[in-house]
Amino acid sequence: MKAMIRLKPGVEKLQAYFVNDIPYRVKLDANEGSNYLLKGGFNINHLKPNLYPDSDSRELRRKMAEYYGCDETNIMVGNGSSELINTIVNAYCDKGEKVMSFTPSFSMYQTYCDLCGAEFIGIETEEDFSQNIDKLILAAKDQKPKIIILCNPNNPTGYVTSKEEILKLLENIDDSLVILDEAYADFSYVTAMDLINTYENLIVMRTLSKAFGLAGIRVGALVANAKTIEYIWKVKVPYNLNIYSQYAAIEALSNTDGVDEYINDIKKLRKELYMQLEDLQFQLYPSGGNFIFTKPPIDNLFEKLMRRGVLIREFIYKEKVYNRITVGTKEENQILIDEIKELIGGCL
Ligand SMILES: *Cc1c(COP(=O)(O)O)cnc(C)c1O
Repeated sequence: MKAMIRLKPGVEKLQAYFVNDIPYRVKLDANEGSNYLLKGGFNINHLKPNLYPDSDSRELRRKMAEYYGCDETNIMVGNGSSELINTIVNAYCDKGEKVMSFTPSFSMYQTYCDLCGAEFIGIETEEDFSQNIDKLILAAKDQKPKIIILCNPNNPTGYVTSKEEILKLLENIDDSLVILDEAYADFSYVTAMDLINTYENLIVMRTLSKAFGLAGIRVGALVANAKTIEYIWKVKVPYNLNIYSQYAAIEALSNTDGVDEYINDIKKLRKELYMQLEDLQFQLYPSGGNFIFTKPPIDNLFEKLMRRGVLIREFIYKEKVYNRITVGTKEENQILIDEIKELIGGCL
């Protein structure tokens, strides 16, 4: 056999991102939502798979602009907001340039830095996982990152940064691109979308994967002032969104009546689940997303639940074990609670 052709050194050491595919009864590990917007299905017979899609996704961007209350010139769409974050980090950061964010936060930020050789700097959150914006501003003034990424609400901790704090960050940062990852902002109602025309260095990321319950179609958006969008259009992959995804997203956005009700349902269920977990001695952190971050009262909860067909996520931070549990339907949450009660048994 011939020698294997090597990847570039910077990426050879990376771990591939595998998602486990163990059989499950209840899936509460990826913050997916319910399929409520497209539950009636839709007809794709009229779509033409032989033709390239609209490279600029014009109709989809018009629909999104309507929903988000901005102009279509403020929007770029991609295969999930993950792809767009990768595109941005790759386009702005040369090898060795810095990207700053809090830790723990979305692990993909580090991954995308690794892919392009950017240096990821994680600013530690406080004991209770709150995010100290003054600390972030100080670190940024000192280290001059090319990009600052703030996940709001934060995944996995659920922490919500207030509008005042966001404004403080934007007022104090001039030389970095500020990306606000608002994948869960539909659940918290704190958004910086109204600030895109005030701060030229601001980019807001949104996605249909969470509150819209459409993770499978991979549609995300980058929202910024028209000048920035036009500027970064240079790095957009042509024809990036296929016709089926564009069509499904347009269909979903054509009837968004159910969205607010769905969000309110999830918030109610989140509160119920929070109280049930509290009764079971879980240490809990307030969450602005469709998930709850917690320190469980027993060891190996993640593995134990997995063996019983209930999937949640495990995080290890400073040698302590935490779990992130997606808020499911009433029935799913009940199965989770029943299984935990059985596991805990006489342990407490
Ligand atoms: C889920 C998620 C995303 C993006 O998801 P896509 O499906 O790629 O749109 C982005 N950021 C955070 C923090 C997320 O949790």
